[in-house]
Amino acid sequence: MKKLLAYLWPTAWLLATVCCALTLALSGARNLQVAAVSVNLPEDIVPSQALAGLTIAIDAGHGGYDGGAVGRKSRTVEKDLNLDVALRLRLLLRAQGASVIMTREGDYSLCDDHPPMRKKLQDMQRRALLITEGRADLLLSIHMNEYANARQAGPQVFFREDCPAGRALAESLQAAMNEALQPPRNRQVGTGDYYILTLGIPSALVECGFLSNAREEELLRGATYRERVARSIRNGVLGWAAGEEKPEALPRQQR
Ligand SMILES: [Zn+2]
Repeated sequence: MKKLLAYLWPTAWLLATVCCALTLALSGARNLQVAAVSVNLPEDIVPSQALAGLTIAIDAGHGGYDGGAVGRKSRTVEKDLNLDVALRLRLLLRAQGASVIMTREGDYSLCDDHPPMRKKLQDMQRRALLITEGRADLLLSIHMNEYANARQAGPQVFFREDCPAGRALAESLQAAMNEALQPPRNRQVGTGDYYILTLGIPSALVECGFLSNAREEELLRGATYRERVARSIRNGVLGWAAGEEKPEALPRQQR
């Protein structure tokens, strides 16, 4: 039995981290006001030029027809939380001197209504185009996690397998998020075959927390916690930028 579990766990993890990308939005049941983030920098933020010269792409996962994961109790949809954290993060990164590219700034997907391919694929291709045409130096894709076991909690950052540049960025983000958010148990970085991580630049997919965990769902529904999440991601980027070693990213993968 133990052997079977040891085999099943990693498989289940992989499924859990991709399933949010496949879940469609449920209609109605949305009772959270997000994306009403102030356009003004919070007063306690001290601007600097620590990230000057860097162009950072922020990809708010899902949007429009694709809601992503859904909060078990509140039915809050992931796409709204992703956008809220992404908009907060944009303010914070700009305050440190970075230029920021957003793949979306509202509740929409980037695909046509009836594309000649899977909608999700066209959506991802268009996100990729914005990032590469904007000559981004690094990419942060913002998501919320979910899992069948409601006890699973905590932020987790993913990178492209065998990509040293992605690993370096992901580890800096994971350390900063663990420190700032103090989850019940610290998670480690993971690898995943996500489209958005294959663009040839240091890239990380940030699962900010689990909408399938009651405590974390409630936390993520609060603006104060989402601000803490955004600041922890900013801290991770600052840590990465201050690091001396900047490994090369794997070349772009055509899909
Ligand atoms: Zn997602």
